[in-house]
Amino acid sequence: MCQPSCHTDNAERQTLGRREFLRLGALGGGAVLLGSFLPRTALAAGGTDALLLSCMDYRLVDDTERFMAGMGMRNKYDHVVLAGAALGAITPKFPAWNTAFWEHLQVAIDLHHIHQVIILDHRDCGAYKVVLGQDFGQLPDVETKVHAETLMQLRQQILAKYPQLQVQTYLMALDGSVQQIVPRS
Ligand SMILES: [Zn+2]
Repeated sequence: MCQPSCHTDNAERQTLGRREFLRLGALGGGAVLLGSFLPRTALAAGGTDALLLSCMDYRLVDDTERFMAGMGMRNKYDHVVLAGAALGAITPKFPAWNTAFWEHLQVAIDLHHIHQVIILDHRDCGAYKVVLGQDFGQLPDVETKVHAETLMQLRQQILAKYPQLQVQTYLMALDGSVQQIVPRS
């Protein structure tokens, strides 16, 4: 839920946004063009309670937004994008990506006081193929299992560091449908 203080944060952010907009406008040229499509979305802030981690895959950008809107979170979440989503955050193959995730999570906590992390992996993920060297095309059950293990691993790492957070984990298919992955009880 939005704490009273976050309304203040939003107000400050909007003020800064306007100032930034005016400054950009004063530069002229390309900055004016940039300003012309900035305002509405930039001022649509209403507080956030969550950080979403998703893959970069262009095929699922709209589905990801639809999924979040379906959860009642349109324009209400911070968003970190890493190829492979959960895998990108934990694979030793790309340590800079791991660092980027943890640093962004810390910023989301410090800046927006988020209470939950939503991790959204997806099927047919190129990053999983690159990092793990395996194509799950004809093996949906194996694919589910590998994603579930990776999602649970990141979930545990997040909870070990930030026990106050809630972590939800999901797997999206290429048609945009989503299944929740829950930890074994
Ligand atoms: Zn992917």
